[in-house]
Amino acid sequence: MLDQKATQPATGQDAPVTTYDLVVIGAGIAGLNALFAATAYLPKNARVLLLDQKQGAGGMWNTAYDYVRLHQPHPMFTVGDIKWNWQKPRDYLAGRDEVQRHLAGALGPVADAVNLETGFEQTVIACDEVTTDNGYRARITFHPNDTPAQTTTVHAMLAIHASVLNYRMAEPLDLSASSVISIVPQDLRDILAAHPGAAVYVVGGGKTGMDTVLAALADDPKRKVSLINGRGTNFLNRTRYIPTGLKRWTSGQLVSRLFRDMALNFDGDNEEELISYFRRTYSTDPDTANGVFLYGLQSEDEQIRIAAGLSETYPGYLVDVTDGPDGPVMELQSGERLPVEPDSIFVNCTGSFFRTADMETNARCLSPGSTVLNISARDGFHFLTSVAGFFLTHLLYRKDLKGKGFYTLDHEALFRMDRNAWVGASAAQAYMNQVIAVNTLPMMLLDRCGLDLDRWYPFPRRMAGLIRMKSSADTDIAHCRKVLDRVADRFNIRCAPLD
Ligand SMILES: Cc1cc2nc3c(=O)[nH]c(=O)nc-3n(C[C@H](O)[C@H](O)[C@H](O)COP(=O)(O)OP(=O)(O)OC[C@H]3O[C@@H](n4cnc5c(N)ncnc54)[C@H](O)[C@@H]3O)c2cc1C
Repeated sequence: MLDQKATQPATGQDAPVTTYDLVVIGAGIAGLNALFAATAYLPKNARVLLLDQKQGAGGMWNTAYDYVRLHQPHPMFTVGDIKWNWQKPRDYLAGRDEVQRHLAGALGPVADAVNLETGFEQTVIACDEVTTDNGYRARITFHPNDTPAQTTTVHAMLAIHASVLNYRMAEPLDLSASSVISIVPQDLRDILAAHPGAAVYVVGGGKTGMDTVLAALADDPKRKVSLINGRGTNFLNRTRYIPTGLKRWTSGQLVSRLFRDMALNFDGDNEEELISYFRRTYSTDPDTANGVFLYGLQSEDEQIRIAAGLSETYPGYLVDVTDGPDGPVMELQSGERLPVEPDSIFVNCTGSFFRTADMETNARCLSPGSTVLNISARDGFHFLTSVAGFFLTHLLYRKDLKGKGFYTLDHEALFRMDRNAWVGASAAQAYMNQVIAVNTLPMMLLDRCGLDLDRWYPFPRRMAGLIRMKSSADTDIAHCRKVLDRVADRFNIRCAPLD
């Protein structure tokens, strides 16, 4: 967790401190989009420093499990409007290493636009705002990962801190039984190879869980694979809402319209109804009782393969697996106790975000002197950090960030309190901030945001959607604001205008 003090005098600085025009902390998709946006405002000779703990750019795609794939078409997972350097079909779902290479490659065009220095394998330990003789400055302190004593401090006109959602690898579940194998997705392939006949229990029904079911079945279609499903996760139906071929013209729906529909169906109190509405209207499995939605996408084909391949699906949560006199026993939160085969493999797919005991530091989106911009989950602009990186940076450089009605939301606190209320609030915030951005920023600039899933659809459909978005902007914004204010009151969390 970084040290994030309020603005203070930069005392005790004897040696002259290097001042950069911009320092970006975090070379994941959020930091890279911020960097990309900043190059529109910085001169070619601007001194820019990019810092990251990892060996190269790409963020969590450097360390995620090897069978993870994008769940949206790859062209919409990018930096600015940088194109993927290949000719694969647009609906191809890129794999981990392909995503990492694309993100790392995006540094090329950015480096051409400014005077970019990179500091990989560097840990940033503090990023705060200080007052100097020349006015407010960001102050960043970092050291090589393995040499904590060798700290460097630099100043910057602006620091963009895009490391806050840092993806943490899950640990294997701490199970009492010694006769079963407890692993994380990163170890799946090796463990499957070492235990060819062993049953697999996938713990968690979200995106990682679904990837893991498919990976285990692809390894051996005859293997017994079961799912411990928690409340059950709903997925947006990619077949219907990201349709291919001619259907892009005739069916589906702009993703921004879907967000609007979710935002308008949320009143600040009815999150359970909202999720049930989502399931019936937009999901791959409308007839289940699945109780959560975490913005994952799935195709109908994937859903069918998973349903057909699973031996068992257990609703509820796993408590423990113990060694009994007749072999290992799995205990569920419902109190049910079920025998499992010795050597069974339990894969922890229970999620990697917001799992720590402590929340991240509650740093404000923008420091008082506007020199530290946090792409943050605590005072977040959008649940997609990539989108936040792109828009916050443009809005800040254009001096359009404050006083326009944009809302920030404490995503982490709300997510930990109530995931379904978080979905309603984050949909309302995402839609409202998008509408305000569309009304604030020039069209040419909006067009450089390659992350927009509406870009899946042909230009005339997008233009028609934009006109509709603008025509209902005032009433939609008023609704979203009311909903977000209600959420702030109800959960006593920060959810307010960015002023
Ligand atoms: C398993 C999984 C699958 C996902 N799949 C998708 C998907 O298909 N589509 C999608 O849109 N999203 C997906 N996501 C969401 C994902 O979080 C985003 O896609 C995105 O890659 C996150 O980028 P980021 O830049 O916010 O964070 P990260 O990628 O985590 O980047 C943050 C960077 O900051 C660096 N950092 C952290 N702390 C410090 C420090 N103190 N000093 C220096 N550097 C530091 C880290 O090393 C890291 O490189 C997935 C997430 C997970 C976990």
